[in-house]
Amino acid sequence: MIATDLRDGVEQLGEMIAGASRIIPFTGAGISTECGIPDFRSPGGLWTRNRPISFDEFVASPDARAESWRRRFAMEPTFAQARPGRGHRALASLYRAGKVPAIITQNIDNLHQLSGVADDDVIELHGNTTYARCIGCARSYDLAWVRQSFEASGAAPDCTDCDAPVKTATISFGQAMPEDAMSRATELAQRCDLFMSIGSSLVVWPAAGFPMMAKNCGAKLVIINNEPTEQDDIADIVIRHDIGETLGPFVGN
Ligand code: NAD
Repeated sequence: MIATDLRDGVEQLGEMIAGASRIIPFTGAGISTECGIPDFRSPGGLWTRNRPISFDEFVASPDARAESWRRRFAMEPTFAQARPGRGHRALASLYRAGKVPAIITQNIDNLHQLSGVADDDVIELHGNTTYARCIGCARSYDLAWVRQSFEASGAAPDCTDCDAPVKTATISFGQAMPEDAMSRATELAQRCDLFMSIGSSLVVWPAAGFPMMAKNCGAKLVIINNEPTEQDDIADIVIRHDIGETLGPFVGN
């Protein structure tokens, strides 16, 4: 059912939240647009400017690695300045209230952690862009180290331990999904009474399978997104409005 107007939607959402004891939010890039981070698919989104670099290209080509890091450094002022928005803060309030045990996110921006959710309770399906990792031995690196090496040599750096390429700690197209995050997300989706998909176009798989999985396991499903998604027809309620406006009333202490 589509909520006819924002006020109705917020009221119905409030009733569902009050009646639920185990809520799992599932977030996408739309929750962070009000924080100044563009999403992928909206007009002006990142894909309208740059074709994504796949994992295979990154591994095979020094030029692709250099281009990938140039793009990441160009985005640094945006990521470094971003602060949690109303959506993040509302979910953090529900987390503190004990209603939300963990948040599943496709986002890579670290904003759920900055809103006060413990690192262990943010299940990152697509990794995190605020640090780097060796794709061979998984050693972590600060972005500042990567930048310094890149600027000194003009090339994307390799791991000082094993010589494999260093990449942002994100999951690129064609890269294996993180097993631990996938299994924790599966367990959370299968054991909740309310699942909230917030700011995701639900076109990136396998992540987009979680709302459907939760619904099939008996949870109520809410979709909050300003555009239609392919799973709107299985949702108990669809709120097709701005996320900050919709979740703002749920920001607590
Ligand atoms: P997406 O770009 O495919 O979809 C975002 C959706 O949010 C769109 O349907 C858009 O209409 C909607 N939206 C944008 N702003 C909104 C607002 N204020 N209120 C309501 N709806 C709004 O993003 P996705 O589904 O998360 O999947 C794409 C991939 O993008 C993810 O894997 C993620 O890793 C990556 N990504 C992440 C970030 C981030 O971390 N902030 C930013 C860009 C892309």
